[in-house]
Amino acid sequence: MNFYLLFILTILIGSYVLEVLVEILNIKNLKTDLPEEFAGYYDAENYQKSQQYLKENTWFGIITETVFTPLTIAFILLGGFNYVDSLARSFNLGAILTGLIFAGILLLLSQIIHIPFSAYATFVIEEKYGFNRTTVKTFIMDILKSWLLMAVIGGTVFSIVLWFFEKTGTWAWLYCWGAMIIIQLFLSFIAPVVIMPIFNKFYPLEESELKSTIEDYARAQRFKLKGVFKMDASKRSSKSNAFFTGFGKFRRIVLFDTLIAKHTVDELVSVLAHEMGHYKKKHIITSMIISILTTGLMFFILSLFLNNTGLFAAFKMENTSLYASLLFFGFLYAPIEMVLAIFGNMLSRSHEYAADAYAATTYRKPEAMIAALKKLSVDNLSNLTPHSLKVFLSYSHPPVLERIKALRNLC
Ligand SMILES: [Zn+2]
Repeated sequence: MNFYLLFILTILIGSYVLEVLVEILNIKNLKTDLPEEFAGYYDAENYQKSQQYLKENTWFGIITETVFTPLTIAFILLGGFNYVDSLARSFNLGAILTGLIFAGILLLLSQIIHIPFSAYATFVIEEKYGFNRTTVKTFIMDILKSWLLMAVIGGTVFSIVLWFFEKTGTWAWLYCWGAMIIIQLFLSFIAPVVIMPIFNKFYPLEESELKSTIEDYARAQRFKLKGVFKMDASKRSSKSNAFFTGFGKFRRIVLFDTLIAKHTVDELVSVLAHEMGHYKKKHIITSMIISILTTGLMFFILSLFLNNTGLFAAFKMENTSLYASLLFFGFLYAPIEMVLAIFGNMLSRSHEYAADAYAATTYRKPEAMIAALKKLSVDNLSNLTPHSLKVFLSYSHPPVLERIKALRNLC
């Protein structure tokens, strides 16, 4: 058996088995007794509902994987990639256009197969637990908009990478890396003003006690506030959140309208102070630099596997091509990506503790921060007792009880 095929099948099946195992451990870790911290925030019935929500989502996730993993394997073994390649080549266009058609068809196929699953998640599961606010129209428009965005951004990136590898030889990976740094910086710069408004509306926060308290706090922290915005998240879901986005004069803090509706001014300022903490503690710039470094690593490893005939044989391809190399490389890179994600999540969790501490020590109302965390968990039916392996592998934020404990240790 082809070594690459064996490797890829092992990775696909291995990560499927690992995921199912972790999810089952996670469900087994559910405790029927409400953690003491949450007394008064959850009644028995709602706590049970939150666990039911977790179970339903978990089983749905497992079913989804159980469909997609064999489907992917069958597509590889039955020569699906070669079939799509012959189709793309039949148009007799240049290498870059042929590559765009090849990747476009595959991406479209996988997107279309995902639609019923995403519709079920939104209109059946989220609906059942009272979260869903998405109309069928918003759902369809979201898909079309994201396809358009993928075509524009993905198409540009794919073409640039192909062009460099076609034309510049040994050092192509360095040029690709350079181009990607520019695109990445450009996108994070314009995202708040160009990309995000495609999906949501952003309103500057109106004059209110909330706004003046935020401004007073920001002034005291010598934080140049470029804008606090309210986002119409409620058009999709009743879940709430807040985030920091953008650089330079486009940087802004965004609060979901659903968050504003359910929290007191002190709780909201605590959440915002946490977001500001990420900025002040340079978490945003650190993540950006790490992402740039890992992109470089990826391009370097990619350059070692271009037009690798063994890899092409694994996918039953009749012709080698740079564009297909890029796609197939994705399968080889998956385990490296997983390891990088584990380290990335570890770092992110430590950043969350640091931002919580920043909020609690600068706004000096840790109780408000704790109350905000509790309300957020209850409103979003978050899992209060995730299994440690699940946290290790995929949690970008520490479990809420650990965050509360860390905050209490500060006081
Ligand atoms: Zn955070």
